[in-house]
Amino acid sequence: MNFEAVIGLETHVQLNTESKIFCGCPAKPRTGVSVADQEINSSICPVCTAQPGTLPVLNQKVVEFALRAGLATQCSIRSPNVFARKNYFYPDLPKGYQITQFELPIAENGFILIDLPSGEKKIRLKRIHIEEDAGKNVHYGPYSLVNLNRAGVPLIEVVTEPDLSTPQEASQYMKALYALVTYLEICDGNLQEGNFRCDANVSVRPIGESRLGTRVEIKNVNSFRYIEKAIEYEIHRQVEMIRAGKRIVQETRGFDSARGVTQTLRVKEEAEEYRYFPDPDLAPIVISDRQIELVRVALPELPRDHQKRLESEYKLSSYDASVLTTDKTLAVFFDQCIAYMRPKAKPEADVPSLAKSCCNLLTTEVLRFLTENQIEMSEVKITPSDLGELTLKWVAQEVSSTGAKKVLEKLLSEGGSVELWVTKLGVKQENNDGELMKIVESVLAENGAQFKEYCSGKDKVIGFLVGQIMKKTGGKANPSKVQMLIADIAKKSG
Ligand code: ADP
Ligand code: MG
Ligand code: ZN
Repeated sequence: MNFEAVIGLETHVQLNTESKIFCGCPAKPRTGVSVADQEINSSICPVCTAQPGTLPVLNQKVVEFALRAGLATQCSIRSPNVFARKNYFYPDLPKGYQITQFELPIAENGFILIDLPSGEKKIRLKRIHIEEDAGKNVHYGPYSLVNLNRAGVPLIEVVTEPDLSTPQEASQYMKALYALVTYLEICDGNLQEGNFRCDANVSVRPIGESRLGTRVEIKNVNSFRYIEKAIEYEIHRQVEMIRAGKRIVQETRGFDSARGVTQTLRVKEEAEEYRYFPDPDLAPIVISDRQIELVRVALPELPRDHQKRLESEYKLSSYDASVLTTDKTLAVFFDQCIAYMRPKAKPEADVPSLAKSCCNLLTTEVLRFLTENQIEMSEVKITPSDLGELTLKWVAQEVSSTGAKKVLEKLLSEGGSVELWVTKLGVKQENNDGELMKIVESVLAENGAQFKEYCSGKDKVIGFLVGQIMKKTGGKANPSKVQMLIADIAKKSG
């Protein structure tokens, strides 16, 4: 019997508003300070620590950000929409309930398009709702303390229909949603700090079966790679269970990235009954048509539109364009490189070939540098005009491919100018025909026997001759130019 997987994702997106959702406390650490380095319980007040007698006051920015997400995904907007209390007991939740939306969320029935080798696929969104984040327990030896800096930080939760069928589709969806919320500038997108985390619901069923199988929920996956690994493992585990005649139990599992396995956190029977009910402290959110229109007209260019524009304007492949637009900072950086190069490009260097070369440097060398050094695009030392300048030199063959990569490495790690590093590293490619011709002629004279062989039709000998010339020029000659010159001399002498 063959099986297919059914996957639905629930993604928590931390909104980057200045203040928390129901009080005036800062919602994020000061610029330059990471969540981990922020002083514990430095960003709290009577409201977000649930002191008796306090009342929540809704931050209107949160509504605007949720509207942006809803409108950008073609959702219908519900007005009024309502906050509910989700009751459970845990030390990081001082009120004893989380304020969230339940039956009446702000946005419903939208979709997100993802790219697959077979073409475009529509992933339906069931709902987008607003909620508050909880604090965090911190463990010190035998003690557990609670850090409430995160309590009351606003989130939206984006819930798909079970429309995803493979681990790759799930990671494509995660990337598309990530690109969307960073383009909308409603989320900082720092995956390590948990700004963007997915719960993956996974079930399997025999191919041809229309009923859904029992699902397992994998909690809090915050990497595009881990989501694939976690789901892959889980599908395999479930299929093996069924093949062995066992039943799948509905449960919540966690992904252990070091071992590459999912493990039980809690089974359904133990799960709490949340006793949801409308929060009497908060009025229903009423959204006018005018408010919706104001947000709609202010939406920025979205990643998919940007991708299509890169494809049509610069003739980039849809793969290249999609890689560039997974991250807004990267895509904007690319646009700025093009803007720098356009007026400076020689007429024979057309914009698509510059764009392709620039895209190659960005999506291979620069992205590799980011991964190796665990930094974000916004932290690199290189500027768009540097990368534009380097691309121009590379396309004009003033530096070789290896030369360009060496210069790029320096620009990324140390900054400085292209001109400086080209000189310092000695990677300027010799293109001056007169100079080069002299060297070629002398080398051919020194290697008369081999040159004769070449002239008599032994084409392979050219590799040796080019090698000798490269040696003499210390690698600075342009090898394809050298080859052309040798061929010319051979033709004239033959
Ligand atoms: P709940 O109300 O228990 O959270 P939902 O109906 O809201 O359940 O579904 C939560 C997520 O699980 C959604 O993304 C949905 O698409 C997905 N899902 C529901 N049933 C299944 C299933 N049998 N297999 C895989 N995913 C599922
Ligand atoms: Mg749910
Ligand atoms: Zn507060």
